[in-house]
Amino acid sequence: MKYILVTGGVLSGIGKGIIASSTAMILKSMGLRVTSIKIDPYLNIDAGTMSPFEHGEVFVLNDGGEADLDLGNYERFLNVSLNRDNNITTGKIYNTVIEKERKGLFLGKTVQVVPHISEEIQQWVERVAHVPVDGEEGYPDVCVIELGGTVGDIESMPFIEAMRQFQFRVGPENFCLMHVSLVPVIGVVGEQKTKPSQQSVRELRALGLSPDFVMCRSGQPLTSDTRRKISLFCHVAPDNVIGVHDVSNIYRVPLLLYQQNIANLIVKRLHLTPKVDIHIHG
Ligand code: ADP
Repeated sequence: MKYILVTGGVLSGIGKGIIASSTAMILKSMGLRVTSIKIDPYLNIDAGTMSPFEHGEVFVLNDGGEADLDLGNYERFLNVSLNRDNNITTGKIYNTVIEKERKGLFLGKTVQVVPHISEEIQQWVERVAHVPVDGEEGYPDVCVIELGGTVGDIESMPFIEAMRQFQFRVGPENFCLMHVSLVPVIGVVGEQKTKPSQQSVRELRALGLSPDFVMCRSGQPLTSDTRRKISLFCHVAPDNVIGVHDVSNIYRVPLLLYQQNIANLIVKRLHLTPKVDIHIHG
């Protein structure tokens, strides 16, 4: 089982969901079986009781689970049927750990965020990643995990810590990290600014996670100078700096990623064996 974690920096609503679904779709087009997990670092057990004005529409899964609309994106992009457990929230994790504590499963121990919450998160991810969602038997090949919120938020810290531990649990050849960042253009000169990306990658690295790919959201395509600078300051290869500029239709994003060779880069990074040659036209 291979895992791809998608994190986001700088601000919320940066496009993590679309990038995660697009990546998953590219892997699926290579004949790989893909599942996904969305992590929402809020205390609600699920999105069912949250105002759509605040949170966006609630997406109802086939098993009745009420989840973030990102789960809907995954289902549409991948043609899979996800379950309520594919959406992890802080509320679900704490609830499970507290129930275990009341049953006496940690007898004698002080129950703490590290190791107990971080361990529960890892177990949950591992368990759900192995559940087939495409109607076929057997385990999926790849699980794309999207961590909601912004790196550095207090809320997402237990999940970041859990994923830091997880990369060693599953081994570096089975875990890769995509960090979505913002490249704004300031002033009349129209220069693309890389500092927000530099700072959010630094923050992530300080927490023990090092991105394999920096996915740069921007208004216009990345210039070669911006790409070079982000590569230099964020310690990723220039080819692994992927531009994801604003497009008129989100279904163009997989194409944008594909044109930047992401399929081959992920295959190489995770030692995947594609089952079919991929052909995307557009
Ligand atoms: P996040 O998961 O980071 O909260 P989403 O993936 O939900 O962000 O995207 C936030 C909004 O931005 C959505 O309405 C989505 O359709 C839009 N969006 C994301 N990527 C792009 C893009 N490359 N071009 C245009 N709109 C985009």
